Amino acid sequence: MSYSIPSDEEVQDAIRYVMRRNKGINSLNKLKELVTSELQNKNPNFTVGFERLRKIAVTAPFIKTDIYARRSEKKDSLRGKCPVCGNKLEKRKNETIFGGSVTLGYKCQKCPYWTTLKRRIPTRYSFEYKQEEKEDEDKTSKRDNNRKKQ
Ligand SMILES: [Zn+2]
Repeated sequence: MSYSIPSDEEVQDAIRYVMRRNKGINSLNKLKELVTSELQNKNPNFTVGFERLRKIAVTAPFIKTDIYARRSEKKDSLRGKCPVCGNKLEKRKNETIFGGSVTLGYKCQKCPYWTTLKRRIPTRYSFEYKQEEKEDEDKTSKRDNNRKKQ
């Protein structure tokens, strides 16, 4: 069977289309099923893998993702990379009374994944459509409001 790989943009468009027609999608399987059939409306040979779809979905600005996870018993090394989307993890630190700081865990810079030192292993995802923010306009209107107050 021959297949073609859609571009990131085509995958994102298909996700947006699917999310607008569904209030919430409570599994990656379901999302993949719907997105694949939407992609295949355009090109019957289109296919998208779980990992790629997940990475695009969790970082899409129009999706609110909930990540369910179980806790690993071991302190696994994450090597600074998010297990969900592959982006960089940021240390979450707490200041101590002695003037130092302790690392509490990590938080992804691009998606909602976070973990304590005992690693949270993602087990399930749920996706919700959210209005896309027009960041620039928002910032401008907030700035204008502040100006009026002064
Ligand atoms: Zn991430």
